[in-house]
Amino acid sequence: MLARIKEFLGMETKPEAKNPEIKEVASEEEVEKVAEEKPKPKIGYIHLSGCTGDVISLTENYDILAPLLTEMVDIVYGQTLVDRWDIPEMDIALIEGSVCLQDEHSLKELKEVREKAGLVVAFGSCASTGCFTRYSRGGQQAQPSHESFVPIADVVKVDLSMPGCPPSPEIIAKTVVAVLNGDMDYLQPMMDLVGYTEACGCDLQLKVVNQALCIGCGTCAMSCPTRAVGMTDGRPEVNGDRCVKCGICYIQCPRSWWPMERIKKDTGL
Ligand code: SF4
Ligand code: SF4
Repeated sequence: MLARIKEFLGMETKPEAKNPEIKEVASEEEVEKVAEEKPKPKIGYIHLSGCTGDVISLTENYDILAPLLTEMVDIVYGQTLVDRWDIPEMDIALIEGSVCLQDEHSLKELKEVREKAGLVVAFGSCASTGCFTRYSRGGQQAQPSHESFVPIADVVKVDLSMPGCPPSPEIIAKTVVAVLNGDMDYLQPMMDLVGYTEACGCDLQLKVVNQALCIGCGTCAMSCPTRAVGMTDGRPEVNGDRCVKCGICYIQCPRSWWPMERIKKDTGL
């Protein structure tokens, strides 16, 4: 996956022999010329099953991202954004929402986008973990048979996962800049999150608190969008009735990233 992302970003995978005639620092004019010659990345926005909160968070960035969205990328596909029904080839597909297994149109669209996109990004918790759509059981206007919603990684290969209910405007802006700059250090956690689709507040209890890893920082309680996490005697307590399975508490927890298997192996515990 790393090689795919680097290839998309035009980054070298092998170091080149240094040529003393090549200048280390390009002039402003040279940078502008390269920017003009390099084709703009083609972006598609696909909206499956969700509440549209993710795209609202994206538009919160309008002041920051306006020059980027209007001058540096081409938006080639997206309901309400582009007047086009067929799915074109694209470099990056931002997919909002989980996919409904009874919705043939959504399944077909998701699979076709996967074939035509260089990078697929699960944008927001519904696409990444299923979030509250996991609770959906039909009754949606004229679609009573729609009752099974799953993260998109359960159906197609995903390259980056950006959970959040919705992702904050700051995270979105920083990720866009990181992708365009090829900042792999910033993107690595999002690559690691791709397989993390079984999110729940109980992960905190089982994988952090019960493992004696919790430091009582309260980050989980502050990050929960439904205020399902409370702090009692310095430890988190999850109210399962309020949890929408977005996974943010576990992802934001500074102790959930500890390599427990490695620690157990090294210490013999
Ligand atoms: S407890 Fe809150 S933050 Fe954690 S998964 Fe549930 S809703 Fe999301
Ligand atoms: S974020 Fe993690 S370490 Fe901090 S209180 Fe919650 S479970 Fe404990």
